[in-house]
Amino acid sequence: MSERQRANVAPATRGSEPRRRIPSVDTLLRSDPARRASELFGRAVVKRTLTRTLDDVRGAAERGLPVPSDDVILARAIGLASFAANGLSSVINATGVVLHTGLGRSPLPGPAAGTAAKVATGYSDLELDRETGARGRRSARAEILLTALTRADDALVVNNGAAAVLLALSALARGRHVLVSRGELIEIGGEFRIPEIVAASGARMVEVGTTNRTRVGDFRAALSDKTAAILKVHPSNYRVIGFTAEPTARELAALARKADVPFVYDLGSGLLERVHGIPSGEPNAVDALRDGADLVLFSGDKLLGGPQAGIVLGRPDLVTRLRRHPIARAVRVDKMQVSALEAVLAMYATERRADLPVWRMLREPAEAIHRRAEKLARALDGELSGARVTSCSSAVGGGSLPGFAIPSYGVEVRSRDPNAMAARLRTGSPPVFCRVTERGVLFDLRTVDGEELPDLARAIQYAREGDEFVDDDG
Ligand SMILES: *Cc1c(COP(=O)(O)O)cnc(C)c1O
Repeated sequence: MSERQRANVAPATRGSEPRRRIPSVDTLLRSDPARRASELFGRAVVKRTLTRTLDDVRGAAERGLPVPSDDVILARAIGLASFAANGLSSVINATGVVLHTGLGRSPLPGPAAGTAAKVATGYSDLELDRETGARGRRSARAEILLTALTRADDALVVNNGAAAVLLALSALARGRHVLVSRGELIEIGGEFRIPEIVAASGARMVEVGTTNRTRVGDFRAALSDKTAAILKVHPSNYRVIGFTAEPTARELAALARKADVPFVYDLGSGLLERVHGIPSGEPNAVDALRDGADLVLFSGDKLLGGPQAGIVLGRPDLVTRLRRHPIARAVRVDKMQVSALEAVLAMYATERRADLPVWRMLREPAEAIHRRAEKLARALDGELSGARVTSCSSAVGGGSLPGFAIPSYGVEVRSRDPNAMAARLRTGSPPVFCRVTERGVLFDLRTVDGEELPDLARAIQYAREGDEFVDDDG
């Protein structure tokens, strides 16, 4: 690069100031703020975040941006160290999205979290049979509960839904063909895409039909002696509407039985059985098994309302193949997960599903939410300062029931710069996640507990102080 080009892309000097040198990690580490931070968060952590921050500063300087002052660099690095060292924060979810993957999906019922914590702080009979002293399986109890609740012949619990899909395809179809409808080649967010997970299992995906219309005859035509499984995937987070067709689970099960290949059904969200008030289009494990699915797969922390887990139900010979596959060990559940799952399944077994936080939130009538919204608006001084109760609609989220809106109520707070206000809320204490509207920010109270209202009101007041809208026309 010539001197002239350098001057063009990188204005290294501002006025006549020469560009500041980038300080060294060690120099900054010896400063008072870094020493204090090292005591709080650990020297290695502060050193690491300083290195990272200085790497960013160097990159920015190469692109011509000025080098910030030492104080600014230190503040950034210490902020990052504190973020890492303080760990996860509890937040208030005022988005109205009940199963919000970014906010940790399903909140656990208190007793389930309590049992998990108790198991985790001591020893447990995780894999030992108390009668015989012999080695057992960690998910043995959950398997009994799952088979009892769904009438499945066998069950297996792994780390999460994606692991269940990967394990099933690896164990049943490695090196052979898996038939999937083109209408179900979904991405559910994150890195989970059906074509990629099939490829990762070592199976070859054979696409069947078209995006909007696939018939059972298309599957029949695609069968060959290389076919190892037929896979059906619930398109969890979108809907194809209009001129559409998909073979039913029953049709695919019949075809698979005739061809003597397993029919694997990835339900995604994990409704155990049909629930009154939930659209019948949302599949459930009991119906899927009754329709003839050989393996049914779903997540523990979506509509089931439990901890992160991947649940496999179905034919004992197939479940055994999965259980014995090396990947099963690589994706096994942790003791806290399995203990919380047992507690949640026990609630289903004793007809206490309605007590699960997810189901309480999904089922709460709009009038009850309206009362909470009025309480919040009152705490925010009502109409004068631009806070008003409004109807809105909540979403299930978590890749469940796309397009299914639940009538709800919230409080809208007007703001000149809604995005800036939402950012202040996210970084406040407690952090609050809400929706941004054209006029301001909206707090949907379906996902906010009554006990959280005082904290929420305080966080909103605080975030509003930076907003010029306060006490404006209203
Ligand atoms: C959510 C989902 C998965 C992945 O489950 P995780 O528990 O998130 O790993 C797989 N398939 C479908 C259809 C899903 O909706």
